Amino acid sequence: MAIKVGIPKSLLFYEYYPLWISFFEGLGAEVIVSDDTNKEILDIGVKASIDEACIPVKIFHGHVINIKDKVDYLFIPRIKSLFKNEYICPKFSGLPEMIKSSIKELPPIIDVEINFFKSKKHLKDTVIRAGRYVSSSNRVIMSSYNRAYLEYKKHRKKIKEGIINELTGADIVKNNIVDVRKVMVMGHPYNLYDSYLNMNLLNKIKQNEAKVFTPEMIDDKYLNKYVKDFDGELYWTFARKLIGTALYLSHKECVDGIIYISTFGCGIDSVVGDIVEKLIRRNSRIPFVHISLDEHSGEAGINTRVEAFMDMIKWRDVLEDNISAHG
Ligand code: SF4
Repeated sequence: MAIKVGIPKSLLFYEYYPLWISFFEGLGAEVIVSDDTNKEILDIGVKASIDEACIPVKIFHGHVINIKDKVDYLFIPRIKSLFKNEYICPKFSGLPEMIKSSIKELPPIIDVEINFFKSKKHLKDTVIRAGRYVSSSNRVIMSSYNRAYLEYKKHRKKIKEGIINELTGADIVKNNIVDVRKVMVMGHPYNLYDSYLNMNLLNKIKQNEAKVFTPEMIDDKYLNKYVKDFDGELYWTFARKLIGTALYLSHKECVDGIIYISTFGCGIDSVVGDIVEKLIRRNSRIPFVHISLDEHSGEAGINTRVEAFMDMIKWRDVLEDNISAHG
């Protein structure tokens, strides 16, 4: 019988799922992903975690409880750094410990360290250590990883393909063949793609006849180019991506509106959200709204804010300068 590896559908799952799933499946494991976030997952997660945790981390606890009894191992890597010379939020490096101290009767956790600050050899060791839970052959592990990495690259390419053209306005705006509003939704990937957490925000925007974009759709090379204009050093991956997106958008003015989603309890958002807002307001006339979510946020309140924002964008089409870009 195949070894069952559980992956919580939360946090960086949204960014790396093709890599993680295809790696373990390539080794012959059965990968079990937790259910989509729902009220039960949110409630048990909030109950299991410490009060001070941010909502995404509380939800992560709920996803762990959702699958812990169905699997032989849980994949919860200790992520310290995802890019050379950058760090990620410290909550990711403490996640395995946080889970072990908050949740009882867990299966063994595959808690390998992911740290791009270290050498290539360290990364290879990480892959081998993770794979050893399922296979005893280093050769099989590395070849499964290489295939999984190609899958991940293909997935990233698919996200970016075509969309960057729309963002830069090539052809579409020039030929005036598409008359659809474009809204960039910014925030951490798990806030953008967990539709229970954000109360289906992306679909609400689409229902207002707008096309939705997210920072993942912009190639890193553009973000890195524009982020050089930022006056200060950026050591945080999330900060680089979001500030790079803000500078890119305010330079190109290629979207009709920007919605920034943050969650209560996020230290990074409390700083980066403010910087992004200032950059957009100072350098562009793109309408901007910041929506902060917590476990008590009501859907009616989100609906009202999204509808008001979308109405404001539509009115600006007609009334132009008479409508403030910032509410
Ligand atoms: S970046 Fe913010 S939302 Fe994400 S895990 Fe860290 S504190 Fe939580």
